[in-house]
Order: sequence, then C-alpha cells, then structure tokens
Amino acid sequence: MTPSFKALLSEIRTAHATHPKLAAFVRFPDDLVTQTHTPRHFSCSDVMRDDPVFQSSMHPLSRAFYDAGPDAHWRETYANTNIGSDFLDRFGCYCAIGEGGQWTSKKMAGFVVTMPPGLYYPWHHHPAEEMYLVLAGEAVFHRDGAAAENLCEGEAVFHSSNQPHAMQTFDHPVMAYVTWRNHLGIRPVLTERGGDIAS
Ligand code: FE
Repeated sequence: MTPSFKALLSEIRTAHATHPKLAAFVRFPDDLVTQTHTPRHFSCSDVMRDDPVFQSSMHPLSRAFYDAGPDAHWRETYANTNIGSDFLDRFGCYCAIGEGGQWTSKKMAGFVVTMPPGLYYPWHHHPAEEMYLVLAGEAVFHRDGAAAENLCEGEAVFHSSNQPHAMQTFDHPVMAYVTWRNHLGIRPVLTERGGDIAS
C-alpha cells in the first residue's frame, strides 16, 4: 500500500469520527479487507490534478484524496451508457473502500467524485443509501421531492434508496466524499424521466 493511501485511510477515519452527519450515517467500518490495487487513469483523472481549487484546498480529506490521486484506480462509472464522451472525460471518480478500491467492506463504500466547473451530472439512482460530503468547491444538488441546494465545503446531503438525484456545477468545481450503506453491489443507473433540470 502506498503512503498516500495509508494517509487517506487515516483521514477517512477522522471524517467519520468528527463530521456529525457522516458519523450518524455510517460508522468507519471495522471489517476492512485490503485488496490488490493498481493505478488506472482516464482523462477524467486530470480534473482533480489540474484544478487550482483542489490543488490549494486545505481540507485534510480533500488533500488526502488529491495526494492519492496519482496512485488511484480511477473509474468511468457510466462507460457503458449513452451519457456521452464529454461527461466521461470530465466526471472523475475513484473508490477508496469498495469495488476497485484499496479496501473492501461489507458495511459501507467510500469514494471521491470530482466535477470541473460547468458540468451537469444527470438524474440517476441506486438502491444504496448515500451521503455526499462536499470537500472543496461547490455544486447544486437536486433530489427528487426536495428543493435544490447549493452545497459548499463541509456540507452534506442524504439520498434515500432509489431516490433520483442530479448535480450541477457552475463557476466552481466540486470534490465530494461519497459514502454508501446497504445494497453496495448495485451500480447507479440513469433515471428516465420526462423533462429535466436546465443545465
Ligand atoms: Fe448517487
């Protein structure tokens, strides 16, 4: 395991112990298993590396995800969908705990997502319950049945099982720590719905 991932695990543990909403959502798991983990990069990995907001963030978990980025096994979550190459090239994600990550757990998954300014992440849903914790930048979070919210560093939002949700960045990028509980093995799918938010 690289020093960057050791440091990342320490910061994840601290976040679960100190952020009230995250602590209430899911505890730091006591069943972590280390797995074989090899770096893998796509164009979307460059967003984290190159954005000055992420480069200069002082949030300790943001820093840890940034520092582990070069060693991470990045994913293209929507590679086999009709979402388009522009989204795939700009929406970054890598897993720390869970499928493809440095560790697995039966109790939770934990990953990081990054979006540059001016990107729309369409409506999607999944059976896992989810919490987003913004680590750097900001984005507008849309949830089915709730008012849209602009969330900044330190703010969190909860998505219930299969509740459709979407995100939009405008003038700022966003980096968020995403945690799942329950139904961990089922990937998100794009939500088919009439009409859509303006992008
Ligand atoms: Fe989600």
